Amino acid sequence: MSQPINPFEMALKQLDEVAKLIKLDKGMHQVLAHPKRVLTVSIPVKMDSGEIKVFTGFRSQHNDARGPYKGGIRYHPQVTVDEVKALSMWMTWKCAIADIPYGGGKGGIICNPKEMSKGELERMTRRYAYGIADIIGPHTDIPAPDVYTGGNEMAWIMDTYSALKGNYVQPEVITGKPIPIGGSLGRNEATGRGLSFTVREAAKKLKINMKNATVAVQGFGNAGQFASQLVEEQGATVIAASDSKGGVYNKAGMSVQALRKHKEKTGSVVGFSGAKSISNEDLLETDCTILIPAALENQINAKNAKNVKAKIVAEAANGPTTPDADDVLYKNQALVIPDILANGGGVTVSYFEWLQNLRREYWSEAEVNQKLDKNITKAFLDIYHTHEEYSVNMRKASMVLAVNRVVEAIKIRGLWP
Ligand code: GLU
Repeated sequence: MSQPINPFEMALKQLDEVAKLIKLDKGMHQVLAHPKRVLTVSIPVKMDSGEIKVFTGFRSQHNDARGPYKGGIRYHPQVTVDEVKALSMWMTWKCAIADIPYGGGKGGIICNPKEMSKGELERMTRRYAYGIADIIGPHTDIPAPDVYTGGNEMAWIMDTYSALKGNYVQPEVITGKPIPIGGSLGRNEATGRGLSFTVREAAKKLKINMKNATVAVQGFGNAGQFASQLVEEQGATVIAASDSKGGVYNKAGMSVQALRKHKEKTGSVVGFSGAKSISNEDLLETDCTILIPAALENQINAKNAKNVKAKIVAEAANGPTTPDADDVLYKNQALVIPDILANGGGVTVSYFEWLQNLRREYWSEAEVNQKLDKNITKAFLDIYHTHEEYSVNMRKASMVLAVNRVVEAIKIRGLWP
């Protein structure tokens, strides 16, 4: 069996490829290949049993030439420092593509949140916030949710940070907060909504009628649920869905609303009425029009890429497709909407949340969604244009745009001293 790919090596390989394409200066290439800072913290937590357990957490700050570091915090047993470094680099590109004034950062804690009580999660989150408090801030580094984190964790981090600074609560230090403490309307759905706009545009380009389109979604968490719901609203039919416990398939289609209810009740999509069970691997090879990988990295790889039948692969997850697989999909004429474009809706609405907090304003959900649509549609069209002009896949086209923007900012600012 092939070795699982190290996500940081994968991110570096993507950077190497684009560096060649745009003839990037060697020194600049080196600058971009290294995160500016990576902090490791140990997080002692008093568990409910009374025993003390020490968790390890990271925060990687890749580049801040275009603005403060920005990016989520994930809780997962498989978090590694290399994964967090890769994710922080991808955030730099993502923010540059969305053309929002941020650089890239990412955090993570090695833990299994599914096995922890709310009290344990709160104590771990607050202790992590204390550990990274010196390097984050509203104009330095603004965290947000990622895999298995959400409003609760953001609220605890905001509260801990504010307490440590001895200030009035600082909502702008973090995004993805619950609405009553400065969260933005539309943020919760933003990743899925942004993705649905990119799928809409891709379907137009490929002359696919959404009413005839079928969808398979791997990962039925926040991004996967909203993405499939909103693509369903455009007329498509969801025929396959999965989560960490397994998957379900029904050729005749499944209602996303009903799937969500089933998952809320039972903890998984598995066992959904009228559906056949299907493995996560089979789901990726399902005969469908649109495939939405919305789980973790390395799902579409050299082994299975040739069996992917979808015409559009819209990456809700970060890094689900390996570079080898990218080449296979491109050859097979599948249009991959890369993560740094497809899931950029989340950080874009994070930016809107931050702006509202800084200005002490509240925008309507309609305003948020409309601004998101405008922003992400422009990014899609710019990238699609580059993809056609240079005959490169959408990921390379995205990377060309992103790296050029970041390099331009670094050059204008200059290197100190
Ligand atoms: N974790 C999300 C991402 O990977 C959102 C980041 C943010 O809102 O800062 O894009």
